[in-house]
Amino acid sequence: MKSLKCDVCHKDITTAINQRSYFHVANRDICEACNDQLQFTLKPVVRTKQPFNYEWYERLIRDSVEKAISRSKWETR
Ligand SMILES: [Zn+2]
Repeated sequence: MKSLKCDVCHKDITTAINQRSYFHVANRDICEACNDQLQFTLKPVVRTKQPFNYEWYERLIRDSVEKAISRSKWETR
């Protein structure tokens, strides 16, 4: 059985079913709670971006995840 740890909060992700209990984002594995937090953190930022740019969005996700990992927590804007 596959055992995973969330790269941000370091919690064990016991039932590792892709896109259900964990999310593979920007080459990192994050748990559902952290993915929710990521979406919550990015939503107000994404909303102000006009026109929407996918490359920018990818970079925003990567930066946000890396920042959260280095601080072991999510930044609230
Ligand atoms: Zn997590």
